[in-house]
Amino acid sequence: QCVRTCPTGALDYVRERGDVFTAINDPTKKVVGFVAPAVRAHIAKEYGLSHMEVAPFVAGMMKKMGFDKSFDFVFAADLTIMEETTELFDRLGNGGVMPLYTSCCPGWVNYAERRYPGILPHLSSCKSPQQMMGATVKAHFAKREGISLDDLYVVSIVPCMAKKSEAARPEFAPEGIRDVDAVLTTTEFLEMVQMLRLEKEDIEPAEFDLPYKQVSGAGVLFGSSGGVAEAATRMAVEKLTGEPLRTRLDFVPSEEYPYLKVATIEAPGRTLRIAAISGLGNADPIIKRLLAGDDMGFDLVEIMACPGGCINGAGHPKPKSQGETGIKTMILSNIDEDMALKDSQQNPDILRLYEDFYGEPNSHLAHELLHTTYAPFRGDAIAKP
Ligand code: SF4
Repeated sequence: QCVRTCPTGALDYVRERGDVFTAINDPTKKVVGFVAPAVRAHIAKEYGLSHMEVAPFVAGMMKKMGFDKSFDFVFAADLTIMEETTELFDRLGNGGVMPLYTSCCPGWVNYAERRYPGILPHLSSCKSPQQMMGATVKAHFAKREGISLDDLYVVSIVPCMAKKSEAARPEFAPEGIRDVDAVLTTTEFLEMVQMLRLEKEDIEPAEFDLPYKQVSGAGVLFGSSGGVAEAATRMAVEKLTGEPLRTRLDFVPSEEYPYLKVATIEAPGRTLRIAAISGLGNADPIIKRLLAGDDMGFDLVEIMACPGGCINGAGHPKPKSQGETGIKTMILSNIDEDMALKDSQQNPDILRLYEDFYGEPNSHLAHELLHTTYAPFRGDAIAKP
């Protein structure tokens, strides 16, 4: 009853778990889910899995739950890097607004739109990985498989509360059809597993599905603070030097602001200065300096709303012990370390998607489906699910 009478609409999101069960049990629906790297880090810790066991375990878990297809969210992270790094070079080459601020965290985008609209021209026009994946599944996968949009139900599984309202923004529901139909937090996803009484022994490891199967270590790093900037730098350095960057970024804390991590990369003809900060309050001084005309010499600035990044998102269950963040961050680092495919720009499935569908990064179609615009906050701009 309270779901129907909630005056703010916040409780509408409670329905999403039930909606996903309904879609899974509807034989006319093809239910497609994609799961974020930070969710997997939590599941690895929760189920006592090694960093390389967890992806097949989660793919197997989703199949057991009844998802028709399970995709790896990291594919969307790779797609984001292709678009965002191309945008960075376009801005550098064309005298565009610099520095470029990342836009993959909807908590940060909401904050910028509400509190600092003056910074919006600095935000990358790239949609978040969630919305890129939703748009790609609804436009490319549906066409490839011959599935009507009425029969396709897309579920994003994330560590994040802000992604629920992001998926409900009207600009992400072209012609009234949302790109992402439901957003489940880590907590909600694991509750569904419990409701189905699935135990660890019931899960048979499986593979994520084609056509978005292969992913890079760079994309896995999106789950913790600094990871987006690091993945973009790997592509930027390869563009500048022709050689892959095989060392991790050496982020050092800024002397002025202890929460600000800075890395400098020397490449032929160009020095890149990268910054990463997490926790919105920590970002305030940097934003105020930028709005006062001091860009601090940065080229790319990553901002994530949650301290430490998505690994600490509000959609995870409450930590049971101290030090969990460190363990989960290490899981993501170790996955990157052990993956043969390190770079987003080398991902064969990404390259095939461009060849078959998007053409090239920042193409007309890519702009239509993978990019967005921002505007100062209007209270009526959130559509209910
Ligand atoms: Fe969501 Fe937090 Fe990650 Fe931002 S940092 S995308 S708010 S979980």
